Amino acid sequence: MQENLPKMPPQAKCTRCRARASVSLPSHNSRFCTACFLHFFRTAVTRGIKKAGPEKETPLMVAVSGGKDSLTAWAVLDDLGFETRGLHLNLGVEGYADASRQAVAGFAASRGLPWSEYSLKQEFGFSLPEIYDILHYKICAVCGKLKRHFLNRLTAREGYPCLATGHNLDDEASRLLGNLVGDRQEFVKRQYPFLPSPHPAIPARFKPLYRLEIKEIREYCRMQDIHPVQGSCPYATGATSHYFREALEYLEEKMPGTKRGLLFNYLRKPKELGFSGGFTPCRICGEPSLPETCPVCGLKKRVQDMEAKRNAQNRNLKKSDSKHTN
Ligand SMILES: [Zn+2]
Ligand SMILES: [Zn+2]
Repeated sequence: MQENLPKMPPQAKCTRCRARASVSLPSHNSRFCTACFLHFFRTAVTRGIKKAGPEKETPLMVAVSGGKDSLTAWAVLDDLGFETRGLHLNLGVEGYADASRQAVAGFAASRGLPWSEYSLKQEFGFSLPEIYDILHYKICAVCGKLKRHFLNRLTAREGYPCLATGHNLDDEASRLLGNLVGDRQEFVKRQYPFLPSPHPAIPARFKPLYRLEIKEIREYCRMQDIHPVQGSCPYATGATSHYFREALEYLEEKMPGTKRGLLFNYLRKPKELGFSGGFTPCRICGEPSLPETCPVCGLKKRVQDMEAKRNAQNRNLKKSDSKHTN
């Protein structure tokens, strides 16, 4: 997979101002100098907000993992004059969690922006490695579900009406392809870049970078001197979303513009947004939920049951060991 934007011939000119170009964007059939690239980048975000997005006065919580996408989303929203606060959920992955936290702290300090930190262990009772140790499977799906719910809850708890996340064009297009292939209509419906709040205790969700590709975000980070955490989560291997991403990357190479075509054609369709059915308080934690028990409490029960079963098995093993040795 091609990781960066193509190199520029020295005589190449900026499509917008005719100065020397430093970036080539084949899917836009354009080349830009640094100033015009930054203009292009911010315009892509404001265009998205104009189509559907929060009002300028809306204070935004920005979910920040410390990766390039979330820090870039935070930077652009700050540049555009939104009132923002970072929200970091520490997953407790050894080494990676500290590096992620440092990237968030460094970025926030460089701009004097406020942020809050929470830990999955404290909120849920188990860190991500502990959950993996007990469940052993589908950890990316479990992690995605937990992040979605806790980021919503923490945003509401801090009194913010809207949560912005760093999902980019590549994330959205590959997820759409996966959902269409699997005919998961419930998820397809929730793919819009702005979802209004469906309940007073659930914030609106907003993806400011949905019109921008990974390569463009990487270039923006470089130009703006943003230092995201390096590498990726050690638990992220083997997620099926990678295959859809690679397939789209292949199509994009043969036919530049395929990714944005897929996503934007879909978004142009008449919307039937969000959730069918009403929310009731979860019978365990009281958070608004569609099923009687919310997905977080359901998952917690499963992890606790598996843990109890494992502990019982270990006790039995120890007992039979000590019988043999006595
Ligand atoms: Zn220019
Ligand atoms: Zn619950």
